[in-house]
Amino acid sequence: MKHIVILGGGTAGWLTAAVLAAEFDPDSGVNITLIESPSTPTIGVGEGTWPSMRSTLLKIGISETEFISTCSATLKQGTRFTSWTYGNGETYYHPFTLPHGYTEINLAEYWSQGLLGDSTFADSVTPQFSVCEAGLAPKQINVPEYAYTLNYGYHLDAGKFAALLSQHATAHLGVKHVSADVTAVTSHPNGDIAALETDQGPISADLFVDCSGFRSLLLGQHYEVPVATMDHVLFNDRALAVQVPYSSPDAAIATTTRATAHRTGWFWDIGLQHRRGVGAVFSSQHSGVAEVEADLDDYLKATGHKGGLAKHAPRLIEFTPGYRKSFWHRNCLAIGLSAGFIEPLEASALVLVELSARFLADQLPRDRRQMDTVSKRFNAEFTERWAQIIEFLKLHYVLSRREDSAYWKDHRREATIPTALSEKLSDWHFRSPWHRDERRVDEMFPAASYQYVLYGMDFKTEINLSNRRSAPAKLKHAERLAGEVKNQRAQFTGRLPPHRGLIEQAKHQGFARRT
Ligand SMILES: Cc1cc2nc3c(=O)[nH]c(=O)nc-3n(C[C@H](O)[C@H](O)[C@H](O)COP(=O)(O)OP(=O)(O)OC[C@H]3O[C@@H](n4cnc5c(N)ncnc54)[C@H](O)[C@@H]3O)c2cc1C
Repeated sequence: MKHIVILGGGTAGWLTAAVLAAEFDPDSGVNITLIESPSTPTIGVGEGTWPSMRSTLLKIGISETEFISTCSATLKQGTRFTSWTYGNGETYYHPFTLPHGYTEINLAEYWSQGLLGDSTFADSVTPQFSVCEAGLAPKQINVPEYAYTLNYGYHLDAGKFAALLSQHATAHLGVKHVSADVTAVTSHPNGDIAALETDQGPISADLFVDCSGFRSLLLGQHYEVPVATMDHVLFNDRALAVQVPYSSPDAAIATTTRATAHRTGWFWDIGLQHRRGVGAVFSSQHSGVAEVEADLDDYLKATGHKGGLAKHAPRLIEFTPGYRKSFWHRNCLAIGLSAGFIEPLEASALVLVELSARFLADQLPRDRRQMDTVSKRFNAEFTERWAQIIEFLKLHYVLSRREDSAYWKDHRREATIPTALSEKLSDWHFRSPWHRDERRVDEMFPAASYQYVLYGMDFKTEINLSNRRSAPAKLKHAERLAGEVKNQRAQFTGRLPPHRGLIEQAKHQGFARRT
């Protein structure tokens, strides 16, 4: 495997190039070329990440201070959901920090029985709830780059992020950048791709990574690998995206993605340093664009942007929810939107890009003979990941009790719910999901994520814990941990700086360097 060509210079292309090049320098015999069209723009959305992005950036060798400064980035501690359960403005959190003592004992079981007091689940098991509510940052300036007091990912400007990755990958990691339009594909007699024809001549390689976005030029158009559509499970297939300024330059920056449900779908609201990125996600089967635009206008006005949509024409993005029936076919692997896309609830797209790129860097086949075995493994692993994402996203809709539109009621129809999710929900009425249920330690959504959503949305688990011999000792353990959460809450809310304050400090003074 001597030459890898990546087609596409969006976040998926540049992240893949940087992760690969951080693993193989040109002296290793592996050369990486990224081809990017000078005229086809990137999707330009995708502003919320998972905490995994911290280790990805660290591995690539980008300083966190530089990243924060150049990408208008802020720190994301999870998602704050509003009106998802009843539609009355009620809220709950899915924070990134695991419940306290998560590997020792399942606090959800004790909370469910009312044994840990009467606070919400998230508030009872992690201080991150109070820290987010108070608008505080997850760390102080003296905590080294990428380390944390409370777990976090980022909100970032997608265009600036791709530009930073490009600059870093070409200047420091030896990635060759070709600005050209790919116009055709040339094949070997066995069906493998031999070269990509560009307006600057052909570019050949041993492996081609298709990061061409929704066009999916190689896997979709050339190989015609079909998409397994999921619009019968998750109906959303449209988004209206807009960028609005803050009401004042020193306005507080939210430290969570805000996901607000309403009659026709839900709004995302992401706070960067200088602006908010806001969008409405909806289903064309249930609502028209004009109706959703009116709802988005109301949302903006209600959340501090008095002019609403008056001076901002939202951009309509259309997509088919689903993923390719295989991602790696012959010598071509699709990563990013070319592999698939399901609505942006819980921001699962970039983390899949990171996981795909890491898989490729870890298991890069030595030569063509090994490729079919590695691709088989990749396809099996990532098909499972997509199924898990779909199941987890669907959970948010299945647990809703909203009755105000066909959109919400249809989401709860038995025929739209994956069987595996229905079975798990039946089981979770009598036991709470826990980390022992997970098959892989790096699972995207750990059982803790399910706990935060289930109990945030008033799901009831009824367990009889008292008939176990170990019950008294375990209850003491659970109560001790809950007491520690209370202490941490007081300590952290007293010590952590406001989110905007930390971001400004990071830009001017920088985070402490890692030793
Ligand atoms: C509404 C919406 C909201 C989202 N929100 C989130 C979120 O909060 N979090 C998250 O993780 N993800 C989110 N995503 C997904 C995220 O935006 C993408 O996963 C990410 O941006 C990667 O996109 P990409 O690089 O695959 O594609 P693109 O950004 O579309 O890049 C495609 C690249 O291919 C190049 N190209 C195309 N044709 C040619 C050609 N013929 N020759 C040469 N080059 C070519 C283009 O020039 C471009 O560089 C969201 C997506 C949508 C639609």
